[in-house]
Amino acid sequence: MKAAPSRPELGAGPADRRNLSPAALYEHAIRRDEAVIVSTGALTAETGKHTGRSPRDKFFVKEPTSQDSIWWHPGNQPISVTKFDALLERMEEFCRTHEVFTQDVFACADARHRLQVRVITELAWHSLFARNLFIRPTADELMSFTPDFTVISLPSVKADPARDGTRSETFILVDLGRRIVIIGGTEYAGEIKKSIFTALNYLLPAQGVFPMHCSANLGSGGSDVALFFGLSGTGKTTLSADPSRRLIGDDEHGWSETGVFNFEGGCYAKTIRIRKASEPEIYAATESFGTILENVVYDPRTRVPDYDSEERTENTRAAYPVDLIPNAVLSGTGKHPSNVIFLSADAYGVLPPVARLDEGQIRHYFLSGYTAKVAGTERGVTEPEPIFSTCFASPFLVLPPDRYADMLTERVNRHHSEVWMLNTGWVGGAYGVGQRMSIAHTRAIVRAVVQGRLHDVPTHADPVFGLQIPDHVPDVPTEVLDPRDSWADPDEYDRQAKKLRSMFEKNIHTIGKGGSAAG
Ligand code: ATP
Ligand code: MN
Repeated sequence: MKAAPSRPELGAGPADRRNLSPAALYEHAIRRDEAVIVSTGALTAETGKHTGRSPRDKFFVKEPTSQDSIWWHPGNQPISVTKFDALLERMEEFCRTHEVFTQDVFACADARHRLQVRVITELAWHSLFARNLFIRPTADELMSFTPDFTVISLPSVKADPARDGTRSETFILVDLGRRIVIIGGTEYAGEIKKSIFTALNYLLPAQGVFPMHCSANLGSGGSDVALFFGLSGTGKTTLSADPSRRLIGDDEHGWSETGVFNFEGGCYAKTIRIRKASEPEIYAATESFGTILENVVYDPRTRVPDYDSEERTENTRAAYPVDLIPNAVLSGTGKHPSNVIFLSADAYGVLPPVARLDEGQIRHYFLSGYTAKVAGTERGVTEPEPIFSTCFASPFLVLPPDRYADMLTERVNRHHSEVWMLNTGWVGGAYGVGQRMSIAHTRAIVRAVVQGRLHDVPTHADPVFGLQIPDHVPDVPTEVLDPRDSWADPDEYDRQAKKLRSMFEKNIHTIGKGGSAAG
């Protein structure tokens, strides 16, 4: 038997490592001291200073083909062609003189809208991230691959704000004309996938496709599609992985003339305090060979990961191909959605766990893009803080928000999709008094929605927001359905609810004027 050469790609120079397999990328990542293998077989990397995205360091090149379309506001800042070219030149120089990794992948499961994306990275584990998250071409498709868009991610290339016109040493620069994104000064891999999502928010509307920051799944019969919009931590990934339904995708989709399609070929799940019992499919995916864990702490002796530790960040993640979720829809496509669900994790505990939205409310809550987080203050007191991110996607929007809101309302009207708002946050009181809605109860609500079991249930209007709350939902205790009833002190509820309503009103007037819409 002829002996196979051991690890043929290693040291093969020139330093151009194309479309390497997960196994080869593991070896490179470990040889380069970028990452370690943990007991479950996953590859674990630390991202250093940046453990999340850097939205304030993102710029669009001000260039003739896109400058009149871009929604310029403090979250979408311009940078000149000259400044961009100077940084691009330094990135190209880095690629000529260092080992870099290339993945040729696709975005958009619908072949009519497919984008061929070349991702060039300094880090081997970023190359595996790109391979896991985007759509992996077949060997035949690779033969005819020609990039439509190029992403270059080189954390070692840092900007000098005085010379380069950036805000810090970190930069995410998008040139929509030449179709290049350059990323420097950050190792957070999520920038790579969200920069292409940003590009699609510009490219797809011109092709008649509505780009959406949402997850999607379908009923086991293969028919009814549900979409889940929501900001970070509201449950897009958790709720779309549902044992009784089939996952299409966990974060980014398009809605075309024929239905919905995933932009990606993988998922990027939060792992903080993950429990096998409530998220069995995601838990199993985090334990697979090929999966990347970001900033997850592990025991240095046993290499057992500790998902409960937030020592490095709350935002610990697992990045894995979508086919690791049992029953995932491998075509990445589905019909027009029957149900559209807006998720908010309301830390004030005043929004109802479920409400059906009428036409005016659909637009209002979509443009508001609300959730709340729990923020620490100087005195160590934790308090809820509202986040309004228009269209549930402010950092990724390229066109003005009304354009996306128009695409949503036009489609839900035409296809008679029903729209719901779910509070996956607190019930029975604000953070600290009440408790977080259980995943089991939220899943029961989702089940009732997608099975059409809330159609004929009587509803009553809540007095502050005018939301239609179902009187009962199968498998959910009635006490939790009406937040005013679930609070110990109804007067205190009224005060908090009115406070939140006035925050909504104040916010909606700032959208488009560059206010808190930058989220
Ligand atoms: P991102 O855009 O950052 O990926 P996401 O919307 O996908 O965010 P998830 O990854 O689904 O958010 O995170 C939801 C988190 O909240 C998970 O850690 C989940 O365990 C937790 N959680 C607790 N209660 C609920 C609930 N009732 N519904 C959904 N998620 C819940
Ligand atoms: Mn997610």
